Amino acid sequence: MTKQPVSFDPPGRLKKLPPYLFAEIDRKKRELVAKGKDVIDLGVGDPDIPTADFIIEALNAAAKNPRNHRYALDQGMPELRQTIRDWFQHRFGVHLDPDKEILPLIGSKEGIGHLPLAVLDPGQVCLIPDPGYPVYRSGTLFAEGIPYTMPLLEKNRYFPDFDIIPTDVLQNARLMFLNYPNNPTSQVADKAFFEKAVAFALKHGILIAHDAAYSEMCYEGLKSPSILEVHGAKDTAVELFSLSKTYSMTGWRIGFAVGNAQVLALLAKVKSNLDSGIFQAIQIAGMKALQEGQMTLEKNLKIYQERRDLLVQGFRDLGWKIEAPRATFYCWIPVPPGYTSSELALKFLEELNVVVTPGNGFGPNGEGYFRISLTVAESRIMEALDRIKKSHPHYCKF
Ligand SMILES: *Cc1c(COP(=O)(O)O)cnc(C)c1O
Repeated sequence: MTKQPVSFDPPGRLKKLPPYLFAEIDRKKRELVAKGKDVIDLGVGDPDIPTADFIIEALNAAAKNPRNHRYALDQGMPELRQTIRDWFQHRFGVHLDPDKEILPLIGSKEGIGHLPLAVLDPGQVCLIPDPGYPVYRSGTLFAEGIPYTMPLLEKNRYFPDFDIIPTDVLQNARLMFLNYPNNPTSQVADKAFFEKAVAFALKHGILIAHDAAYSEMCYEGLKSPSILEVHGAKDTAVELFSLSKTYSMTGWRIGFAVGNAQVLALLAKVKSNLDSGIFQAIQIAGMKALQEGQMTLEKNLKIYQERRDLLVQGFRDLGWKIEAPRATFYCWIPVPPGYTSSELALKFLEELNVVVTPGNGFGPNGEGYFRISLTVAESRIMEALDRIKKSHPHYCKF
């Protein structure tokens, strides 16, 4: 008797994930690189600046200590939570209880992905910004929640309009993701916006999860506030921080959630069934980064700022209308008339060998834009500008 082959078709929850819009660009890029083309990648949001030596040395020393080789505590080392408390107090003037209001994460993406499992029942609505970080949607779908998109429009300065969310959606809404400084638009929120968001969430019984992955990545001394600075925010919000972008530590996987104690306990419950904490040597290196990383951070911000100025000026010289981002290492740029986001990204790749990210990959409201990441050296930015200039006025029909 012949055996029936086992079928591994994706289950419904995976089928619901949106198609990966960058697949075609990834494939073409690999093809060009294989052909020996000099491809300039302005697509990925991953710092090219290496992690500072003092952080690596802290890891090295901690990795040699056998005490750090065993399972870590699920809720993180007490010393790490105390360090986060001190950092948060110093940075935002907000006191956190290190035992109840701080939860270390294996990178903030881990917390974002797991949070819907911790707070949503199947069929409940999660409000997500569009364009936005794709994990808000996929985390919601894994928890069998219903994503409802809040458009971030240029005419609203890339803030959601809470007033247009229908009543029946609100009645079923349990969770809302926000993200400022914003990826991909680079918009920064002020405290007044967070006050409005907290009042709205309290009124409708919604938990806000504020993704603050770029909290420290602001230029010219601008300080992005924490949503927890708002009076009453702890009753209705958690906030997710990351060491990834701040200290060039994307590969290390360390971040933390702060805020509502009840919600953090639920998230900790999910996590305790899925992971067993962060490697202690990384926790120790992370403490070092939070305690002594300010100078390195400022040095790196200067580098990004110089790249930003070079890129913005270069595009302006070519006649493009482009705003200088006040935060993040992204430029969110309108696509010239006559192209869709994907068409422009493909043309840049094929004709100029320059990778940019098409805006529609962040949601339908990203259509009409593309994102450039400042995570390459100035010489590469100049080379990319040069290639665009040589094709000018082909792409510059403003
Ligand atoms: C990079 C990024 C994250 C994830 O950061 P990790 O801490 O490395 O997981 C989360 N949110 C946004 C908006 C990001 O751009």
